[in-house]
Amino acid sequence: MTPSGLPLYNPEADLSLFSNPAFRPTGLQRLGLVGVAVGVAACVVALASGLGAAHPLAFGVTALLGLGGGGVLYALGGLAHPAGVRTEGTMVSSNEARGAVGWAIGLALTGLYVVLYFWPAGLAGLIPLADPLSRLLRDQPATLDNGGQWFLYTTLYTLAVAVMGVRALVRYRHSRYHQLRTLSVVFFQTVIAFALPFFLVAIQQPELYLHYTWPLDYDLFFPWKIAELRAEGTLGVAMLIWGVVMIAVVTPVLTFFFGKRWYCSWVCGCGGLAETAGDPYRHLADTSTAAWKVERWMVHGILAVITAATVLLGVAAVAEVGWLDAVAGTVGWIYGLLIGSIFAGVVGVGFYPIFGTRMWCRFGCPMAAILGLQQRFFSRFRITTNGGQCISCGQCSAYCEMGIDVKAYAQRGQNIVRASCVGCGICATVCPRGVLRLENGADTSGASRAGVPVNNLILDLDILPDA
Ligand code: SF4
Ligand code: SF4
Repeated sequence: MTPSGLPLYNPEADLSLFSNPAFRPTGLQRLGLVGVAVGVAACVVALASGLGAAHPLAFGVTALLGLGGGGVLYALGGLAHPAGVRTEGTMVSSNEARGAVGWAIGLALTGLYVVLYFWPAGLAGLIPLADPLSRLLRDQPATLDNGGQWFLYTTLYTLAVAVMGVRALVRYRHSRYHQLRTLSVVFFQTVIAFALPFFLVAIQQPELYLHYTWPLDYDLFFPWKIAELRAEGTLGVAMLIWGVVMIAVVTPVLTFFFGKRWYCSWVCGCGGLAETAGDPYRHLADTSTAAWKVERWMVHGILAVITAATVLLGVAAVAEVGWLDAVAGTVGWIYGLLIGSIFAGVVGVGFYPIFGTRMWCRFGCPMAAILGLQQRFFSRFRITTNGGQCISCGQCSAYCEMGIDVKAYAQRGQNIVRASCVGCGICATVCPRGVLRLENGADTSGASRAGVPVNNLILDLDILPDA
């Protein structure tokens, strides 16, 4: 025991969930953990025994209620703790500091993604658990033949965002900004990415995801996808037009006024999972300069590859050049496998407890690359710093999920205008001195982006709306 009464951290007790001396679950939280354990047990038994196929309703309800209900109870137990980022014990937690628990969760998640993408038959015992919900929502059973594994996956993904969204609402109950953006990502995941597409399937319409567009939906403008959407009739064509409007009009306009956060921290499903389920791991991002250099080359390189593949496929289709179609098609296929499946899923989510929550957003997402370029060169969004108040504690840099060295800017009193910043606002929340502030107002001094040609042009033309 320390003089303050906290038990000393014992690395040999690393396998214990409670190895973090500051982690003291309340009674409600312990009850919640029991519920989660029951949900996990139902999944494991169904997977190993095949009993889920014989009793889909019993196993499905037990699994979803255990995971969902238990998770919500655990989250509500957090009301007994103070609001805000809990920094005590984070760096010695087995779960949150790459200890044995963190590695075990990471390997389990990665294994599940590998099976999902490359050996879905391995999930045959688990898919029936989603069958009752599948019949209710999309009016068809959940089987391997009709992509039942993807319905199961989307259900669990949505459950994770919703349950951990409750945790975020409890944890950040002192901040209106975090409350609103949490409600927003939960809404977009549960309604726009889950209920709506499956309802459309139930009424024999195409399964549409209104919040995704190219390049995140990387094959949206591939010739065969365009043909497929056109064949689906009015809704398919409308989706195609919406995709063009979203990337060409909605994205630049909203990014100009709000920065890339409008998408990355308020709408996107990947960002939604990172901001909710990934919240305990946000401090694990690599903050080194080397990581920053790799990040810039990778994310923009991936954008270049998918842009080239899309353009070349279009040219090949119009000009009917067979070899070009074959080459670009192969590039598109490799992109789908390496980037769309392995990077976005297996590494991006599977390694949350090892590399932090925004691996995909930072190093791989082509949508983030476009939004970042717009944010860096053509947006009013910036984080202003009151350098005189900074005590160089480094909390802001430690909890930045994008690995930005926020402290370095704060010490210099310099505005933060970084392409990678997703505007989560945690740096401002965790700062004990109120140094940081996320702002959208017109920066008529031009100080935020001094020297950026397009910014100088805007100032010269005097076309900025008032703040
Ligand atoms: S700089 Fe702040 S707002 Fe931007 S990603 Fe990092 S923590 Fe979030
Ligand atoms: S958290 Fe605040 S006080 Fe600490 S280094 Fe960052 S800006 Fe400075």
